[in-house]
Amino acid sequence: MKYKRLLLKLSGEALMGNGKYVFHSNRLQQYAEEVKKVVDMGGEVAIVIGGGNIFRGFLPKISSGNIHRIDGDYMGMLATVINGIAFQSHLENVGISTYMQTAIRMDQIAEPCRKNIAIQKLEKGNVVIFVAGLGHPYFTTDTAAVLRAIEIKADVLLKGTKVDGIYTKDPKKNKDAKKLKYLSFEMVCKMGIRVMDQTAFILGSENNLPIVIFDINKKENFKNLVSGKEIGTLVSRNKRKNV
Ligand code: UDP
Repeated sequence: MKYKRLLLKLSGEALMGNGKYVFHSNRLQQYAEEVKKVVDMGGEVAIVIGGGNIFRGFLPKISSGNIHRIDGDYMGMLATVINGIAFQSHLENVGISTYMQTAIRMDQIAEPCRKNIAIQKLEKGNVVIFVAGLGHPYFTTDTAAVLRAIEIKADVLLKGTKVDGIYTKDPKKNKDAKKLKYLSFEMVCKMGIRVMDQTAFILGSENNLPIVIFDINKKENFKNLVSGKEIGTLVSRNKRKNV
């Protein structure tokens, strides 16, 4: 196994399925099964879940309307809790023990964020779900994912998306777009790549946390990536090919 302890970032959008509903149970079931494969291999899995399928605080129509950006951000953080509960149920349904920590206190639902306890739970085979982002407005769950990964001393952050990595150009619009297997943090910032927000990349770079962008919807991808197969795009400090 290449990565023993890892943090999986799942965006809210990834939970949506065909986009008709806020989240789609089949999609959550599929991800739960993928996570189980990694847990069964002995992987220690923590998850940061987004909320964009329900609410984003920084949408112009929100922040310029009657809801202040800060209030919108709190609504976004609460959205991540809804997703976290939904995913927790699906994980438990496939036989995984879970433990949820929240950055905004809500005692009936989840424990407050404590890194040592999160690490203990991971070591005992629980999947740890972090919700409510960082608990502060003006951040994103990408940045929260990097911070939590650093706190639990994860070997890697795996960002599951709909695309299978970072390309030289938008692959939907450009047929000659090439996928990059490796990229330095420096290049990601220079190229203005938006697959994660820049704050997240900078925090990752400063703390030497490798980040892999990969297609979460392709069957076995998650397990294969954790096992050591070259999947998606690896963003790291080291200078490698394509950098
Ligand atoms: N958010 C926030 N602080 C955080 C994390 C999230 O204010 O630490 C808010 C922000 O409004 C964001 C929303 O919660 O738009 C949902 O999170 P995000 O956009 O990161 O979700 P994703 O894109 O991963 O679904």
